[in-house]
Amino acid sequence: MKGRKLLMIPGPIEFEPEVLRSMSAITTSHVAPNFIEIFGNTLDLMKKVWMAPEGQPFVVSGSGTFAMEMAAANLIESGENALVISTGYFGERFKNILERYGANVTLLKAPIGEIVHLEDIEKELKKKPYKLLTITHVDTSTGILVNPKPIAELAKKYNVLSILDGVCSVAGEEIQQEEWELDIVLTASQKAIGVPPGLALLVASKKAIQTWKSRKTPVSNYYADWANWLPIMKAYQDRKPSYFGTPAVNLIVALESSLKIINSEGIQVRIERHQKLASSFRLAISALGLKILPVNGNIAANTLTAIYYPKGVNGKILLKDISDFDIILAGGLLSEIKGDYFRVGHMGSVSSRDLIATLSALEYALFKSGYKFETGISLKTFQYLII
Ligand code: PMP
Repeated sequence: MKGRKLLMIPGPIEFEPEVLRSMSAITTSHVAPNFIEIFGNTLDLMKKVWMAPEGQPFVVSGSGTFAMEMAAANLIESGENALVISTGYFGERFKNILERYGANVTLLKAPIGEIVHLEDIEKELKKKPYKLLTITHVDTSTGILVNPKPIAELAKKYNVLSILDGVCSVAGEEIQQEEWELDIVLTASQKAIGVPPGLALLVASKKAIQTWKSRKTPVSNYYADWANWLPIMKAYQDRKPSYFGTPAVNLIVALESSLKIINSEGIQVRIERHQKLASSFRLAISALGLKILPVNGNIAANTLTAIYYPKGVNGKILLKDISDFDIILAGGLLSEIKGDYFRVGHMGSVSSRDLIATLSALEYALFKSGYKFETGISLKTFQYLII
């Protein structure tokens, strides 16, 4: 026994050894010349991954929820309208955050396993002036993938800011922030970006920064306020020392290391790797006779898959048996159906070997449960597809 399990949950994920090693470098001062260079380079590399050459990157200690909070705190003012397009648990979270900042939130909630249709979004945008809308690119609770491009186009048509929660998508799903005119694309370190938890990452468009600058009221969250962070980010971008709150030095060193890996793989190649592994995995799952949560493959995420337990199979026992096989998977998250499904993360450094190991563990546990299927069918399907 090596005592090592494979972490196949939708974040935190398995990290590249090089990234983990870089985290253990001796901690320097946040104003040491070598750290200033690393932080500056990190911000430059983010603009490449986000495809936002004119964007303003922010790296602040916190989790993905803080990145959401930073977007809401800086862009919404009390009494303004916000439209939340929800495909699961994290859409509801954006609603809650926006309401804390005084927004009147309209929630457009898709039925489980589906997306909100563009016509319904447009119909809502016609009803009243919205300040912003939010899209969850991949809702990690459902494994639903939303195409943000046409929604961002609608936002532009109605002069509404667009915010993309890319926590489960940045560096795993296609995003072209500038080309698609998304005003905010935010994420957290622990998912497809490939760095242990602890960093909130966000890139803001010029329009978003302009909107923040012309606020009538001050930002009511001190730690999230761009007035505090923007000069710091700009200083690091200009390779100058500065201080507001001590940055997570070691995590930022690791982030630079991971962004270098992402850029050397090539963002397009990386996205295609995710797409190929995910579509092959979905077909392997369906070869087992299992059903995924999204109603069709076109709206299924490439960073994770949400799968219903087959009828008569005890989910808790299944996940425990899979864990005994040294693969860690995640249970359900969406409250309405929490006990009915499980989730497999496949993002970042994920390889076909990881998914083959996951499928064999799943087959082992399904077999043990008494579920009837052709042994080896998922492995055969997957291996045939990825060659
Ligand atoms: N949005 C999405 C889509 C997420 O998947 C998550 C985390 N699973 C969050 C927001 C919140 O991020 P965190 O847990 O890092 O606060």
